[in-house]
Amino acid sequence: MEQAYQVERCFGERGCPNQAVYHGDLLQRLAEVFERSDLRGFLKEKVKGPLKSHHAFRVSVSDCPNACSRPQIADVGLIGALRPKIGEGLCTQCGACVEICREQAIALVPGRGVPTLDPRKCLSCGQCIRVCPSAALATDKAGYRILIGGKLGRHPQLGRELSGIFPLAEAVQVVQNCLRHYLAHSRNGERLGEVLRHSPVHVSERPQSICAIHSP
Ligand code: SF4
Ligand code: SF4
Ligand code: SF4
Repeated sequence: MEQAYQVERCFGERGCPNQAVYHGDLLQRLAEVFERSDLRGFLKEKVKGPLKSHHAFRVSVSDCPNACSRPQIADVGLIGALRPKIGEGLCTQCGACVEICREQAIALVPGRGVPTLDPRKCLSCGQCIRVCPSAALATDKAGYRILIGGKLGRHPQLGRELSGIFPLAEAVQVVQNCLRHYLAHSRNGERLGEVLRHSPVHVSERPQSICAIHSP
């Protein structure tokens, strides 16, 4: 059957130890967003001939920043994120968090009781939280980083990352807003990345807002 959309995902749920977030009913909710829309009818009207795989609106979900499902080149890419903060537990200076962090985003400073976190380097993979034996690190924010407008083709481009980490419900809302924008502005069934060139979205300055995307 001609597919109007594709929701791809990585293999995190099959026991990958890197999984930062558990997606729960995310895939089901994304499918509902597309099924509620008239995307198929829209594409059939815009595209000459049968729908091909490159016409499908693509969402790609990866459960950690390793991004195995290539969310950077999807119309909307979701990357599972678990951002750490200093927790209530007593840091024993064991160094496990420093050792596991591939970004050198966490450090132990002599004479300081807790580690330092560098948010500019941190990719929110959550590994440091997982290995800390004493709850000295805790979860600050769990959800998804979101990239929009990625694509391959003749003019490939990586998706533009929105600011912040979006809880699951807000991530679904952003996908819905992107789809609405696409349906309102796509001229001939081109990819969202092309649509954003001639019809850019307004992106909210409030990082966690469900209105992060506004279709003008
Ligand atoms: S993206 Fe992360 S969680 Fe998903 S399969 Fe790759 S390494 Fe595992
Ligand atoms: S969340 Fe990942 S990248 Fe960030 S400090 Fe912890 S281990 Fe490093
Ligand atoms: S924050 Fe946790 S993992 Fe890191 S040094 Fe302290 S006790 Fe060890």
